[in-house]
Amino acid sequence: MPFADDLPVPVGAWAYPAAELLLARAEQLALMTEEPSRITRRAFTPTMREVQEQVAAWMHAAGMSVRRDNIGNLIGVYPASTPNAPTLLIGSHLDTVRDAGKYDGPLGVLAGLACVEQLTASGQHLPFNLEVIAFVDEEGLRFHTAYLGSEAVSGDFKPDYLHLTDDEGITLADAIRAFGGNPDRIAQDRRDPATLLGYCELHIEQGPVLEQASIPVGVVTAIAGQTRMAISFRGKAGHAGTVPMQLRRDALCGAAEFILAVEAYTRESPDMVATVGRINAYPDVSNVIPAEVTISLDVRHKDNSHRQRVCKMLLERAQHICITRHLTLDWRIVHENPATPCDPALSGILGAAVQQAGYPLLHLPSGAGHDAVAMARITPICLLFVRCAGGISHHPDEAVQVGDVAAALDVLHHFVHLLANQLSLGTEQ
Ligand SMILES: [Zn+2]
Repeated sequence: MPFADDLPVPVGAWAYPAAELLLARAEQLALMTEEPSRITRRAFTPTMREVQEQVAAWMHAAGMSVRRDNIGNLIGVYPASTPNAPTLLIGSHLDTVRDAGKYDGPLGVLAGLACVEQLTASGQHLPFNLEVIAFVDEEGLRFHTAYLGSEAVSGDFKPDYLHLTDDEGITLADAIRAFGGNPDRIAQDRRDPATLLGYCELHIEQGPVLEQASIPVGVVTAIAGQTRMAISFRGKAGHAGTVPMQLRRDALCGAAEFILAVEAYTRESPDMVATVGRINAYPDVSNVIPAEVTISLDVRHKDNSHRQRVCKMLLERAQHICITRHLTLDWRIVHENPATPCDPALSGILGAAVQQAGYPLLHLPSGAGHDAVAMARITPICLLFVRCAGGISHHPDEAVQVGDVAAALDVLHHFVHLLANQLSLGTEQ
């Protein structure tokens, strides 16, 4: 899908070839997959090891010292110009969903690497260590969880996780051991917040906002909070031919009325998204009035109180529907995680970098979760989105343009230098 790439902005001369190299590397990593003809890379597998070894080789060549922490995150360190300096982390994840695209995750890791290569090429060191971190698990495909890598770093990894099993019955503890990690020492992976300046993640947008605005990059304001519910409407089964319409207690009609009400409510609420993705009708027979219908409801918004308010309104609406239709309601929250705001100061510097690089500044929320959610618990975070074709992600059609990647690298370059300037000024005062 072509982009309206009409911004007459000169990108730093180094950034285009760096973006071309990044995309070639993403192609190379995409060949490292567990399944022939499609990209599937689960955490703690030999394929993940292969990818890490390749990225580690690039890190070494860029002048970084490279290590793995106990859970198996890959970390490259480009040292500061002075000893005892704090650390800026730049990163994302290297695992994928099943039948994935090439950029969700690797883009952020490879961008950090490109940033260091540019510093190496110009012989520069910053007043902070620059660490590129490649998280071993974010998508949670193998153990049906998420953020295992970044939660180890944020200190939120729970020892109970080690008993989780994959589809072959292998425990997480054994998988980490087989990968070369040490499950007994994951607590030591937690980074000391006092040593960190922040965490910056570059990620494909996974949505259509930047494409619609014809802008290559955007600064994320917050990662949306999410409430997931299981909602059951109960009525009464009956013969499809004999029960008159006015005497029916049809659970599916109640659910249908509610689903359309959800859509109507959320359409009028900016940045709010709500989805009914599953529906189960019982007895699920063509000539029986549905007695019970259970639906899923996923509600997301960047503001916690707003999300909770809308959930309450939707509950009241469901109750009203049930009263008028003589149904009973079961409303259960199955998962809830709060919104994660990006750090205003760090995001301000990122925004200034966007403008310094010559691009319009667009702020947008993230509807999808990222490693930055876990990292926000220990350090300020900022997140830069890169336009992707059609907003498509978690799919082989995922695509980015070389010009947009060059823009993102240019912004990242300005960002680390602005941060360096600020830090130098701070120490001189
Ligand atoms: Zn991702």
